Amino acid sequence: MIVLNDDGEQKPGKGISRLKNSASTGSERSDFYPWQKHNWEHLQALRKRPQHGLLLKGNKGIGKFDLAINYARSLLCQHPDEAGFACRQCPSCHWFEQGTHPDFCLIQSEALSVEAEEGEPGKKPSKQISVDQIRGLADFAGMSAHQGGRRVVVIHPAEAMNSNAANALLKNLEEPPPGMLFILVSHKPQQLLPTILSRCLSINLPSPDTKSAVHWLAEQGVENPAAVLAASGFAPLQAVVQQPGFEERAKLLRAVRQPAALDVYALAETLQKTEQVVVVQWLQQWTYDLNRIKLAGTLRYHPGEEIVMGKLVESIAPLTLARLQNYLLSAKREAQHTLNPRLFLESLLLTYRQFMLER
Ligand SMILES: [Zn+2]
Repeated sequence: MIVLNDDGEQKPGKGISRLKNSASTGSERSDFYPWQKHNWEHLQALRKRPQHGLLLKGNKGIGKFDLAINYARSLLCQHPDEAGFACRQCPSCHWFEQGTHPDFCLIQSEALSVEAEEGEPGKKPSKQISVDQIRGLADFAGMSAHQGGRRVVVIHPAEAMNSNAANALLKNLEEPPPGMLFILVSHKPQQLLPTILSRCLSINLPSPDTKSAVHWLAEQGVENPAAVLAASGFAPLQAVVQQPGFEERAKLLRAVRQPAALDVYALAETLQKTEQVVVVQWLQQWTYDLNRIKLAGTLRYHPGEEIVMGKLVESIAPLTLARLQNYLLSAKREAQHTLNPRLFLESLLLTYRQFMLER
């Protein structure tokens, strides 16, 4: 994946861990939310009549962006299954997973990009998509596609394009490079240029009815799902994000997947306001899945992370993972009595790193 930053410079994407598999429920794998079944089938039917511009529109917090990403993954996969789900095994899926797919480009505002979360403190990230970001597409369009000539650009949210950016995109839509598909994601399509709208096939994404949204939230482990859903303005994904600890958990999971690069002290600082027992539980779930992928090739708590987690445990002995699990058990007991959260977390993360780097 190429991510075009504010200066229009290309840089390799850091992957899309933020949203990976958020559409999965339980052990059953799916690349769309339960309320998007018709949309997914519609999109799959479109494979036979390639488009140049798609507009996925609908309310905020209903999973439009995830659908766009999973559709892009599906289009680029070399061996999608009958339902169109990407195989997650082929080289294309590997690249996609690792954020290095040469035929995929994600354009979003700095405020939304993963990089921004780790950006310079004090600098407010821009909420706009700039003209340089769109112009940067020229290089992407100029490169020849690596597979089957298909290339996908996701623009999210499309209304974040300022007028210069929108006009630059319009040129691309008027003379689309061969094989290029632009997927615009928007919850304010009325703010888009009519000329852009007229060049895109518009697809309405429904909001789930209350019953299915509550059911889905309950499956995600959200407590009081009905109340949480209402408080989020009936945007189920928003409701998940608003769960206490959601951001912290995401940061932890991003960090522990690269033990060698794990900045123990910075992460401990980030996590010190979260209950220590909860942090240990997150690590326990992570380690449980590391063990499970090693022994059984499947995951329970982190569906869709098969490739990343499988790689991570490749050179780790099963016994080491068992010892790590034992250590976490005792750490969980200790977490209930600890007086210095910061020190406790540092020691927890240091020990994790030590186990993971043991050879
Ligand atoms: Zn694949």
